[in-house]
Amino acid sequence: MKRTVKDLVNLEGKVVLVRCDFNVPIDDGGKILDNSRIIKSLPTINYLVEQKAKVVLLSHLDRPNGFEIRKSLWPIALILKQKIPAPVYFINKVVGNEVKEQIKHMENGSILLLENVRFYKEEVDCDMNFAKEIASLGDVFVNDAFGVAHRQHATTYALARLMPNAIGFLMEKEISALSKVVKNPERPFVVVIGGAKVSSKIKFILKLMDVADTLIIGGAMAYTFLVASGIAVGQSLVDDDSVDFARDLLNIAYIKGKNILLPIDHVCIKESAKRKKAFVTNQLSDDMVAYDIGPKTIKLFTDELMNAKQILWNGPLGKYEDAKFMEGTKEIAKAIAKSKAYSIVGGGDSVSAIKKIGLEEDINLISTGGGATLKYIEKGSLPCVDVIQEKIRL
Ligand code: ADP
Ligand code: MG
Repeated sequence: MKRTVKDLVNLEGKVVLVRCDFNVPIDDGGKILDNSRIIKSLPTINYLVEQKAKVVLLSHLDRPNGFEIRKSLWPIALILKQKIPAPVYFINKVVGNEVKEQIKHMENGSILLLENVRFYKEEVDCDMNFAKEIASLGDVFVNDAFGVAHRQHATTYALARLMPNAIGFLMEKEISALSKVVKNPERPFVVVIGGAKVSSKIKFILKLMDVADTLIIGGAMAYTFLVASGIAVGQSLVDDDSVDFARDLLNIAYIKGKNILLPIDHVCIKESAKRKKAFVTNQLSDDMVAYDIGPKTIKLFTDELMNAKQILWNGPLGKYEDAKFMEGTKEIAKAIAKSKAYSIVGGGDSVSAIKKIGLEEDINLISTGGGATLKYIEKGSLPCVDVIQEKIRL
């Protein structure tokens, strides 16, 4: 078990550097489109404020090229100000004398947000000197940035090697839910995998194949598997390089007695038609492109989900960004929300789909990590978590 903020004692007046994941979508006018990552970081921040620490927050936003005003963290500071009943300050730097001075003058129980750490290329390079400069600003390091815990950067990884450390509440919640899925799931454990690219999820699927009872495969992903089982898919998206893998996986599933469900009907369009109207078919001919699962498939998948005790969902079941092809994703989301199973949803697009549908409250855990969630499930660990000290048992 890793040390958590709760294990840190005598925090009054101590400078605690907290790595958060405030990587939220922001429009060109600086308006935050979805602040859930900020809200989920509040328990750790509020706890440290209550302990009267001086709370210094670090985060990245997007992938800036040097200093980009549109990727500044100041809009985040405004949200923190609204949400936290403690003084919140912002400084447009991460290192240097001005930062040191400002920290020196912070009152206990106040918060200082530093600028986007990725404005410095040393962050992604995991530059030790940069990390040492940041480490010199504080007494303890707390990592609560689950979304980037698979990336060894200066403020996600190097800081933990340089300072006493712990994980925050959000990180703790995410890894305990995901580790249960990998090590000790409730059964039947049903996994729903969708999305577009098979190749980026190969190891993830292989791992789940070991631990899950049923794999439901939908989205564009399914067409690679259908091709591998000799079924015609027309012009639907197929990841050609992954057909062999898909075939192997279907064979392994057969040998291991695992259940794999693939779509049996589709919502598609005819490429050659003048008016591209969407219609349902159970046989895809050469000029058809499938963009969603059909009603029979929805029934097949939802029946399976209703018996599950644990559900993990990653990847939309169709091209959900287009209302014509959203039905499959919507119905599966509804079934997961309704089921009595412990449900986890992870993945950038899957999470935005569930929010669009308005069912986020009915899911047990909405994982804040895209890549990190997949990596954790694949490996059962993440480098930025591994580097944190273990709890000391007396
Ligand atoms: P996540 O971010 O949840 O891991 P992915 O990034 O793997 O999900 O996949 C999401 C993308 O897959 C979406 O842009 C969606 O439009 C696309 N997609 C899903 N099904 C289809 C399909 N049948 N045809 C084309 N694109 C699809
Ligand atoms: Mg995605």
